[in-house]
Amino acid sequence: QNDLLSATGTTVFTVMSALAVQHGAINLGQGFPDYDGPEDVVRAAADALLDNRNQYPPLTGLPELRQAVAAANRRFYGLEIDPNAEVVVTSGATEALTASLMAVVNPGDEVVLLEPLYDTYLPVVKLLGAVPRLVRLSPPRWELPRAELAAAFGPKTKAILLNTPMNPASKVFTAAELAFIAELCQRHDAYAVCDEVYEHLTFDGWKHIPLMTLPGMRERCLRIGSAGKTFNLTGWKVGYITCDRSLAPNVAKAHQNLTFTTAPNLQRAVAVGLAKDDGYFADLAADLQAKRDRLSAGLAALGFGVLTSQGSYFVTTDFTPLGFAGDDVAFCRHITEAAKVTAIPVSAFYAGADAPRHFVRFAFCKRMEVLDEALARLGAWK
Ligand code: PMP
Ligand code: GLN
Repeated sequence: QNDLLSATGTTVFTVMSALAVQHGAINLGQGFPDYDGPEDVVRAAADALLDNRNQYPPLTGLPELRQAVAAANRRFYGLEIDPNAEVVVTSGATEALTASLMAVVNPGDEVVLLEPLYDTYLPVVKLLGAVPRLVRLSPPRWELPRAELAAAFGPKTKAILLNTPMNPASKVFTAAELAFIAELCQRHDAYAVCDEVYEHLTFDGWKHIPLMTLPGMRERCLRIGSAGKTFNLTGWKVGYITCDRSLAPNVAKAHQNLTFTTAPNLQRAVAVGLAKDDGYFADLAADLQAKRDRLSAGLAALGFGVLTSQGSYFVTTDFTPLGFAGDDVAFCRHITEAAKVTAIPVSAFYAGADAPRHFVRFAFCKRMEVLDEALARLGAWK
């Protein structure tokens, strides 16, 4: 057995979703919408399925999807990307993260990570034999701690793994913060693996800025997107990496040894999705912002300390004002059983034992009536 994997727990998302099912709770834990993605996109997948699109597609992805990824890079960020040499399609952002790290990291290299962090980052970095250097962001503002970040970079730094918009902090990194990170990467000759799965899910006028668009960063960044989030089709697991032509061949070799290819009918449909007009992407964010507002206001009215969510599917809350005697894990268990509403303990996004233990994350990517019912249940429980 691999010691690291034996020591790794089952992901908190699976644990909490199973608990939600067991107790008949509304699941505001794991981040998946309770509505399907755009019908034309789903239909394109069904059409492709019936149209003999069922054998191995090209290793780096169907040409039409690579072209669509390149076109989206140009449309949204002004990035000029060669679809034949600078895009690799993967089976979800999860695979894209592993493939990107595999492409650039050797055993013993250091990888800078920002806490709170998505739960696959640390196990993957360690499986590759790399050494994690953790830097912690602090609530409620989650500002970049510049001195600590600068101190985490050194001669052994190979890469930083940056997630913006950030899960679970729901923070969108500012241009100034990104410039600071870019300067460190250049000074220390480091790559940046950029998990940008929530790139289109930003609120209140916050605009996602890919680190790759900053001066000097075009060749250093591996930019990851996910159709799961962009089209509310989380089960599809189609991701895409945009990176310089000098890096793409290694990324492709990693992908070759992880999954080799990704379902071609889904790739075809995601290409259709990425070509949708600007209105689709604006509505996607606006709909989600209305849901965020509904849940945030409702939780605040119940007494939760609600942190501002600038992007993603999530809002983080402080349950201290409710006077619950117990930590965040106990709180999430308790409300699942007693209120029949499930959330995720934010301490699950920290590596150390000294994680904050009074925050829980709620997903608002649910129908309005479901959010209202969850609030009513929490109100009745309280
Ligand atoms: N990164 C972050 C920050 C996420 O929240 C998620 C959750 N889905 C992923 C990566 C994985 O994305 P995918 O489902 O495309 O593998
Ligand atoms: N990204 C989702 C979340 O943060 C979970 C995906 C998963 O279950 N691995 O809730």
